[in-house]
Amino acid sequence: MKHDTDLAVIGSGFAGSLVSLIARRIGRSVTLLERGTHPRFTIGESSSPLANVLLENLSDRYGLPRIRPLSRWGTWRRSYPEVACGLKRGFTFYAHDPGRPFGARAERDNELLVAASPRDEVADTHWYRPDFDHFLVREAEAAGTLSLDRTTLDRVERRGERILLSGERAGRRLLVSARLVVDASGPRGFLHRSLDLGETEFEGLPRTEALYSHFRGVRRLGELREFAEGERAPYPIDDAAVHHVFPEGWIWVLRFGNGITSAGAAVTARLAGELGFHAGAAAWSRLLERLPSVAEQFRGAESVQPFVHRPRLSFRTGCASGPGWTLLPSAAAFVDPLLSTGFPLTLLGIERLGRALEDDWGSPRLGARLENDGRRTLFEADTAGRLIGALYVTFSDFPLFTALAKLYFAAASFSEAARRLSRTDIAGSFLCGDRPDFGPALLRCCRQALSASETDRRDPAWRESLIRSATLAIAPIDVAGLSDSSRHNWFPVDPTDLVQGAARLGSTEREVRQMLARSGIFPPGIQGTPDTTVRESFADAR
Ligand SMILES: Cc1cc2nc3c(=O)[nH]c(=O)nc-3n(C[C@H](O)[C@H](O)[C@H](O)COP(=O)(O)OP(=O)(O)OC[C@H]3O[C@@H](n4cnc5c(N)ncnc54)[C@H](O)[C@@H]3O)c2cc1C
Repeated sequence: MKHDTDLAVIGSGFAGSLVSLIARRIGRSVTLLERGTHPRFTIGESSSPLANVLLENLSDRYGLPRIRPLSRWGTWRRSYPEVACGLKRGFTFYAHDPGRPFGARAERDNELLVAASPRDEVADTHWYRPDFDHFLVREAEAAGTLSLDRTTLDRVERRGERILLSGERAGRRLLVSARLVVDASGPRGFLHRSLDLGETEFEGLPRTEALYSHFRGVRRLGELREFAEGERAPYPIDDAAVHHVFPEGWIWVLRFGNGITSAGAAVTARLAGELGFHAGAAAWSRLLERLPSVAEQFRGAESVQPFVHRPRLSFRTGCASGPGWTLLPSAAAFVDPLLSTGFPLTLLGIERLGRALEDDWGSPRLGARLENDGRRTLFEADTAGRLIGALYVTFSDFPLFTALAKLYFAAASFSEAARRLSRTDIAGSFLCGDRPDFGPALLRCCRQALSASETDRRDPAWRESLIRSATLAIAPIDVAGLSDSSRHNWFPVDPTDLVQGAARLGSTEREVRQMLARSGIFPPGIQGTPDTTVRESFADAR
């Protein structure tokens, strides 16, 4: 079998299928090569406001009205009830001391709740990937992609202006000749191995391992005595990406609407060794024994999927693009599930690739542009890697963890708002890493945390100075009230914060109010709009 194609895309996860759809809209022929078949279990499920605004932007730009409903919980549920998802109203963090039950405190210095949306209709989602990825690959096929599953690739070579991929499908040799190969096959994927691109480490990130599964019967934290305070929280604490943080690691809990819950742990290699992560379920039980309140949440729960152990969680390739080929961000690097950075990073890369195909297909400029984009992909991954590395060293000091986590939330909410205001120019790269008023400060805070000795970490003056540095760092981009200590670590979505941050967003207050109404985040007449000036402005927007 021989196929000539403009683009060969390797891997039909959500990213490979979305790239295929976009390339078809731009008029390119596409062959999508997948070693497995759908539906299939895969991990990476929790979306974020930036991921969803990117999905909206891509849907609008490339005329993908069937994809757009997937960017919000309400439209997703109505349009595709058969494609399972979970409700994500925010990011919930609880800090645990090993051996002790979680205890809510009046000052809430052992928890952090950051809302991502003001109500369910416009909320983010957890993607149930067996359904979600299957849906997307069918959309790509319907758009004219030649999709070849159960394909084993074994060779890549350059022939003049084309790249040849060879392999086997259904017992027959397969040859695909492409003008551009896009690798969406995930960490340590096909091109990384075949082209021997080399692996490098993230600065400061410890070696980590993961252990995870899907479960039934996981209890809601809101039903447990220890978390009763959560009743008054800015959103139902379980309708979120729940993070249980403890020294050297953390656990995620993501609930889907079909009764399944995704849960797993990412921990340092040292702790994974101590717990014997290679043993799967037994190691999970050993971890829960150390965390009584998490054990309570999982009492009576059963895994519905064999446990997966990832002995090397993070990954960074040495080079993300070359003549005739490019790696999507998800094939170029992966840091950690913490903060759900995988989807937005991947979607930013897909956005760049779409623009490059639109502008430079058939031009000698394309290669240089993709190489530049590849460097940006690695820069963005490095920024995320540094921040997550710094967060790992603060897992046992939650006030410090909170101060550093706000760097992420400030940058993410700023980027989302800037995009909704059509001001992508001011958001810069992921985590606002190339904004001169934020990127260097972010870097300094991370290095301050990463370079500290044990003695520094115990020194109150050193701790105070890091918290102060992080607070100062977010000031120029904080449009989410994160600098307001009177909120005691509970941060609802309050439109007043955005309106008051208008100047930081390079906009007027009126433009921000109109954006809030237009985007449906705070539409006219919505109950619970906390600020009368905002409510009045809806009349303007109409
Ligand atoms: C434990 C864990 C938790 C995560 N949690 C989150 C999260 O909550 N939020 C978030 O934003 N991100 C998360 N991520 C990251 C997220 O998983 C990725 O960003 C996302 O899956 C990338 O999608 P993708 O389609 O590029 O790759 P994948 O979903 O990995 O799909 C790759 C596809 O390529 C196929 N393939 C692989 N090799 C070949 C080959 N040689 N030939 C042909 N096909 C091949 C595979 O079969 C697969 O179908 C997590 C990652 C991990 C490891």
